[in-house]
Amino acid sequence: MNVMKFGGTSVGSAQRIKNVASLVSSRGRNIVVLSAMSGTTNQLLKITDSLKSGDISEASTLIGQLREKYSKEISELIDDPAYRDEALSKIGGIIDSVATKLDKKIEAIDEKEIVACGELMSTNMMDCYMRSIGMNVAFLQALDFMAVDDQGEPDLDYIEAHIAPLIAINPDADVYLTQGFICRNADGEIDNLQRGGSDYSASLIGAAVDADEIEIWTDIDGMHNNDPRFVEGTKPVSKLHFEEAAELAYFGAKILHPTCVLPAKNKNIPVRLLNTMTPEAPGTLIYNTEADYKIKAIAAKDDITAIKIKSGRMLLAYGFLRKVFEIFETHRTPIDMITTSEVGVSVTIDNDRNLDAIVEDLSAYGAVTIDRDMVIVCVVGDLEWKNRGFEAEVVNALKEIPIRMISYGGSNYNISVLIRKEDKQKALNLLSLHLFN
Ligand code: ASP
Ligand code: MG
Repeated sequence: MNVMKFGGTSVGSAQRIKNVASLVSSRGRNIVVLSAMSGTTNQLLKITDSLKSGDISEASTLIGQLREKYSKEISELIDDPAYRDEALSKIGGIIDSVATKLDKKIEAIDEKEIVACGELMSTNMMDCYMRSIGMNVAFLQALDFMAVDDQGEPDLDYIEAHIAPLIAINPDADVYLTQGFICRNADGEIDNLQRGGSDYSASLIGAAVDADEIEIWTDIDGMHNNDPRFVEGTKPVSKLHFEEAAELAYFGAKILHPTCVLPAKNKNIPVRLLNTMTPEAPGTLIYNTEADYKIKAIAAKDDITAIKIKSGRMLLAYGFLRKVFEIFETHRTPIDMITTSEVGVSVTIDNDRNLDAIVEDLSAYGAVTIDRDMVIVCVVGDLEWKNRGFEAEVVNALKEIPIRMISYGGSNYNISVLIRKEDKQKALNLLSLHLFN
């Protein structure tokens, strides 16, 4: 059994919901996880914002818009009047539950309940539609099995123990349908797995039921080997190691969040990125691949600030790096990249909110220089250091570009270089040209 997760745009209209249903029915008995229709979660958050600021009339206007949108979509989606009425009444009821919040002072729990409605609505629509076309749907309520502990961390044992019986009592279902994103917290209240959390739901469910594969359906044909906004002719990467996917996600590629795939990685369940528009395309398969010693993809992260601390009397004394790092810790600023020499250390940060205070503290240990508007370009692949040549290929491709920092050896999966923003497009193109042609 596979888990198939569809994001907001994949269920963004009546027509697209129909496409998903037909795709799902052609693939056998699987667990289908849905996000809210695109735009809905944001709309629900706008409602909570207006309620918090006491703007009741704005909140009811927004609720009215939701009602209108959903009744239009449902009428377009479902032909059979009995199922259509059922969907209208169920979604109407969910929107009514949001409207009841208009009369009360809104608390954190109300916000969570409101924002959960997106996934409740999309899955109820899908359930009614699928049944209207004759599918046997086992509708599993995420709130009955998806749970986080008192630290907000998913409780995999609980999830496993609670989803299994829901599946077992429906052995003949054509499909198991459930909500992404939403869960219960340690107090049993409605909660969620944070924005974009449906991927996390899919990965957790896959791990809980020991799925054969976790499919993440979007409308791009997998993870590309470079940024298509800057480079022409990029191609989907067919296979990525979980570690490579994590590096790419961290360095700005539009891909699954690294923590989201952790449950899948831990259980060694492959994650496949697929495209609803071209379902037959192979997409990108992410798993614990065998070593293949290949460069796979390039990603870039913008708005990076480089900080250099040079010389000073602390130099060569042990404890220097600790003191430097402590300053970043004190100012709650994560460091992305580091290079060191005997006479100084350069680091990069992407959050410069506390830069002034950091520079002031660092100045006690040496001369500090700052370079702003930098970009980290990250080359990802199976780059085990004992294989010669990867770093040479990267540096050679970039020989016309001034490089501020180079970092290799932090992991076996990435070589990062720091360059100026104005060189980014050229650098990405040169890398594609030299590494993939
Ligand atoms: N609907 C939620 C969001 O927009 C969860 C998701 O789409 O993954 O953040
Ligand atoms: Mg979404």
